[in-house]
Amino acid sequence: MISKSLFIRGLQCLKSLYLHKNRPYLRDPISKSTLAKFRRGHEIGKLAQELFPDGIQLARPGPKSYLKSASLVSAHIAQQTPVLYEVPFIHEDFLAIMDILTFQNGTWNAFEVKSSLSISDTYLWDICFQAYVIQAYGLSPVTFSIIHINPEYVLQDRFNPAAFFNIVPVEKEIYQMLPEIPAKLIAMRDTLNATTSPEISVGTHCHYPYPCDFTGHCHKHIKEPSIFSISGITLEEKYQFIEEGKSQLRDVAEHLQNTQIINRIHSILSNQTIIQNREMIEFFGNPPDQVCFIKIFHQSPAIPLHRNKKPFELTPIMISTAENQIHETVFNEYLIEVDERISSKTFHDFLSKMFSQRHKTKICCFGEKHILIPLFHFYMRENESFIHEINIIDLQEIFELAYYCAPDIDTEYSFQSVVRHFNSDKAQIIHKDFELINKVSDDPFKYSDIDGLKDSYIQSGRIWCLYLSGIYKNILQLIDT
Ligand code: SF4
Repeated sequence: MISKSLFIRGLQCLKSLYLHKNRPYLRDPISKSTLAKFRRGHEIGKLAQELFPDGIQLARPGPKSYLKSASLVSAHIAQQTPVLYEVPFIHEDFLAIMDILTFQNGTWNAFEVKSSLSISDTYLWDICFQAYVIQAYGLSPVTFSIIHINPEYVLQDRFNPAAFFNIVPVEKEIYQMLPEIPAKLIAMRDTLNATTSPEISVGTHCHYPYPCDFTGHCHKHIKEPSIFSISGITLEEKYQFIEEGKSQLRDVAEHLQNTQIINRIHSILSNQTIIQNREMIEFFGNPPDQVCFIKIFHQSPAIPLHRNKKPFELTPIMISTAENQIHETVFNEYLIEVDERISSKTFHDFLSKMFSQRHKTKICCFGEKHILIPLFHFYMRENESFIHEINIIDLQEIFELAYYCAPDIDTEYSFQSVVRHFNSDKAQIIHKDFELINKVSDDPFKYSDIDGLKDSYIQSGRIWCLYLSGIYKNILQLIDT
């Protein structure tokens, strides 16, 4: 049976469709970010139902159980039930599950809900497939719309679903695309019934519009160290090299001009750390009297957490700091609240402290300078002209700029891989510490749960700052002044 998710899979790559049916065990493990997207889609889907309240829920646990509800759907259609959720339509071996279906003034209205800020071509193909099945089923007349998150929505005192969503009619687009659907479905059916996998090479289609879950399987012939071991080259360029038969790092080094990429390649091929001493000295500047190590916990929730925030707007939650004093490390935690229900005083305390110490203290973060600077601007509007005097260094930049290249640091220059690089004898402790940090960072934050979450946040922030302080010291010792 071809559902809309299989249709979109087949549209991206027929081999993926074949493998999904015939070799599902070859799939990559599902990533945390994919799981988070599923969770978000489900949450937004539920929320969109509030636009059409009091509907009848027809959701079932899986495609096979939808087959059993076919007679139920026919009954609701015959009775012209005003609002239905998750409505399955079956035609031949195609299954379309419409998120919301309403009946108003003699017309059926079908709505597909997307947890994104805009409508992509993939979403149009998605609803086009649904429209094809619904038309073939015989439902008429029907209007089709996509409901997506309004990028201009700003949370006021109360969450307002009507303002949070945009409802966009898409019939015009659908009717242009519909004639292409039958040929695509024939190709997909043929692929599913074939005895061997279609011959399709790897390419950018393995990543867009969605990361394919057979990437590990299809790329396994590319031996390491390959061009996927380095950053700084676009995916398009990487696949162009592969097409030319140059998948290995040693094959591409001579074709590249960029010194940063060449440094990274040399580091991996020689299995050595390469340091650009002069650039590092310039980067660190004069040694400060005091360094304040900092971690900002933040999220970008689809549904804003605070008043005056937009969907997916970056929302800082807590700042952790550590300062090394003569005999001890002093930790501080500051909750960042722009919500009037909870005071913002604590974060102002941090800013005032940093501001008053700006000539002798350097703030050291990892990959978070782009969050910290707007925060300073937001909270210190009255002292804006002095903000440039606050001394911030972001240690991730030395890896991005290839001032420090090491073969075991990943292509994202993640904090975890840098910590592992400098603490190679503590693999198990690091693994455990990052389980906690990642849980705190990845799980959706709710202010209503703050009492239960506080300890995990505090502990994670302290661990992060201690590792950061260790990396800072290690690097300074390595620079030859
Ligand atoms: S990894 Fe690429 S080639 Fe392989 S199935 Fe997925 S999209 Fe197709």
